[in-house]
Amino acid sequence: MAEATIIDGRALAATVKDALTERVHQLQAKGINVRLDAVLVGGDQGAHLYAKNQAKACSAVGIEYMLHEMSENASQAEITNTILELNENNNVTAIMVHMPLPSPVDASAIQMLIAVAKDVEGVNPANIGNIVFGRRSLVPCTALAVLEMIESTGVEIRGSRAVCVGASTIVGKPVAVLLMQAEATVISTNIHTKNCDDLMRSADILVSAAGVPKLITADVVKDGAVVIDVGINRIVGDDGKKRTVGDVDFSAVKNTAGYISPVPGGVGPMTVAMLLRNTVQAAETTN
Ligand code: NAD
Repeated sequence: MAEATIIDGRALAATVKDALTERVHQLQAKGINVRLDAVLVGGDQGAHLYAKNQAKACSAVGIEYMLHEMSENASQAEITNTILELNENNNVTAIMVHMPLPSPVDASAIQMLIAVAKDVEGVNPANIGNIVFGRRSLVPCTALAVLEMIESTGVEIRGSRAVCVGASTIVGKPVAVLLMQAEATVISTNIHTKNCDDLMRSADILVSAAGVPKLITADVVKDGAVVIDVGINRIVGDDGKKRTVGDVDFSAVKNTAGYISPVPGGVGPMTVAMLLRNTVQAAETTN
C-alpha cells in the first residue's frame, strides 16, 4: 500500500491566514479594528512565551493584540472585574483567558463570564451548547482545526465512522459533536473504554486526543483511514534529547493510513489559525 498523504497543518494554516488578512483589511476599510484581548494571570516563562507568539501571529494578519497581565495572587473578584470590563468595552472584539489559572481561582466560573460573542476560544458553555443545536457559534479552536484538516482531505465525513480517542471538554467532546453535526457515525472513547483497539480498527476517521505517546499503533488503524493526531507529548528520544511527539506512532501508521497529520506541524499550527479566524469572525459578527 502507498504511504499516507500528509495533512500539512502549516500549509493549511498559511492559506487560512492569507484569507484572514484580506478580511481584516475589509473590516479596517469600514473603520473596524480587529482586536484580541488576552488575560494572563501569573504564568511561567512558557506561558509568557506562548503569549508573545500569539501576539506575533495576530500581528501577521493585522489583528491588534492586547495582553492584560495580572498578578498570580489576583483574586476571583479581580479577574471577574477584568473580564466584565472587557465585555463592556466596544473596542474589544475578542477575549481569551490563558489557562491554567492559579489555584484557588475557579476557571470555569471565569470562562462562563466571557461575552458569548467575544469568546473566541469557545469556552463559554453557551458556545459549546450552540454547536449541539447546530447554530453558528464560536467553536473551540482545536476542535475546529481537526474538522478543517479532515475536510481538507476531501474524504466524505457524512456516513463515515469516526472514532474520537479522548473525551475532554476542550478537545475530545467538541470534536465528537462537530463530527456528529457533519453526520458521521461517532464513537467517543476514554481511558475506561473496553476493546478500544477494536473500535479504533473500525474507524474511517480516527482522531486521537489522549496525550499518550504511541497509543495509536499501525495495527489499530484501518487501511486508508484519515488519522488526526491532536496529542502533544514531550518525551526523551533514543538519542537522549527531548522531543515533541503526538499520540500516533507516525512512522509505522503512515504505511497504513490514507491521510495522516504529523506532530509537530499538524493540529498545532491550525489551532492558532482557527483562533485568528474566530477573532475575525467575532469582529465581523459584532459590527
Ligand atoms: P485531557 O487529559 O483533559 O483528556 C484526555 C482524554 O483522553 C480523557 O478523556 C481520557 O479518558 C482519555 N484517555 C487517556 N488515556 C487514554 C487511553 N489510553 N485510551 C483512550 N482514552 C484515553 O487532555 P486534553 O486537554 O484533551 O489534551 C489531550 C492531548 O491533546 C494532550 O496531549 C494535549 O497536549 C493535546 N492538545 C493539543 C492541542 C493542539 O493545539 N494541538 C490543544 C489541546 C490539547
